[in-house]
Amino acid sequence: MRCLEKSNNHFKKAITRMPLGVSSNFRYWGDDKTIYIKRGKGARLWDIDGNEYIDYRLAYGPAILGYADERVDEAARKGMEIGGVFALSTELEYEVATRVHRMVPAAELVRFSNSGTEAVMAALRIARAHTGKDGHICVEGGYHGVFTEVLWYSDVEDWSPKDGDPELLPYGDGVPAIVKPLFHTVPLNDIESLERMLQRWHKDVGAFLIEPIMGNCCGLAATRDYMLAARALCDKYGVLMIIDEVKTGFRVAKGGVQSLLDVRPDLCTFAKAIANGYPISVVAGREDIMRNVGDGVVHGGTFTGHSVSLAAANRTLQILEETDALATIARYGAEMKKGLSQILGKRGIEHCFTGHESMMGLFFSEDAPGDYRDWVNTDYAFYDSLAQELHDLGILVEPDSREPWFFCEAHDVKCLDETLDKFERAVDITLN
Ligand code: PLP
Repeated sequence: MRCLEKSNNHFKKAITRMPLGVSSNFRYWGDDKTIYIKRGKGARLWDIDGNEYIDYRLAYGPAILGYADERVDEAARKGMEIGGVFALSTELEYEVATRVHRMVPAAELVRFSNSGTEAVMAALRIARAHTGKDGHICVEGGYHGVFTEVLWYSDVEDWSPKDGDPELLPYGDGVPAIVKPLFHTVPLNDIESLERMLQRWHKDVGAFLIEPIMGNCCGLAATRDYMLAARALCDKYGVLMIIDEVKTGFRVAKGGVQSLLDVRPDLCTFAKAIANGYPISVVAGREDIMRNVGDGVVHGGTFTGHSVSLAAANRTLQILEETDALATIARYGAEMKKGLSQILGKRGIEHCFTGHESMMGLFFSEDAPGDYRDWVNTDYAFYDSLAQELHDLGILVEPDSREPWFFCEAHDVKCLDETLDKFERAVDITLN
């Protein structure tokens, strides 16, 4: 059993100065479970009590090469010497934009921001300006950041199709009801629903926004057929297709899921893995659409184009572009799946995987849920208990099955072996 005494004591201090004692609500795991981190290196984290963890959360994806990667940090230090931000531009912006374009052909033009939220917010604004239509259609169970136009979800718990469309609810308080009419949802991989939605709302809707692998819904993935059919419907109804690759970009493939599925969005967004953890994001897309920026659409911010983040992005992307790091990461994921399956199979525990090798979801059922409606009705009690045991043994996975397991280049064979050994113990403890 881990000792969390120092974290518990720190929490009591932190809560007096910060709501929930943290900087992001998702980092609050309960008064006596919230962990404070001392440092991270490679695929490992150490908390302030000295507990060591092999981490499969990776800050929700950014640490694609591993924490404190010397190659990236060295570049970031050089970026620091440039001076930070100037309320003027640097040559480095063009260099990184060109790299992004080379790796992601749909990124004809590129603009940088600081977070995934900002990138998606910009993409929707550009889509509204280009189409003259304010609404957007999202996929049930998707997540696109913490701004009001996307902080809505379909309440499909205790809902059945005979009730009509599921109710849309805000994620928490303070989300203005006035933006609700802009937001629509469809179930994943259901092209008829999308067509019905477009038939009904296309005059009001400027964008179809989709995460191709839902990083906040345990890695449920859009099929290629669905993405191609959705692409065609977007063209038919004059709606822009925005692929949100904030989690998948520069992770599942050099050119993102769009390159794996060979589907070309009008706009796309990237963040997490682009700079191995330094804060930077991208909105990119078709030249004629992106030219709206500067031609009526506001985009910018004090910290956009920060020299440290750009230098880190340049080096991270160079590594991802020129080495087989992503193939190595996918191999680690594949080996982990094989090992987990052997352990679970030996005990007759039904299970399946979703997502991609580098961000895999694990379900304790014979078949993966097809969409968010299935997912909310899945029994994840076993997963939740198992996650707690894994934490106690020093394996950090998301406390619930919402997030997939993320892999990085630093998850070497030693990490995998240690994880499998502890996973086996955690399963047996959970079963007993
Ligand atoms: N889009 C997707 C697909 C995400 O997964 C996230 C964050 O998890 C965001 C957007 C928002 O990014 P950020 O947390 O950097 O604002």
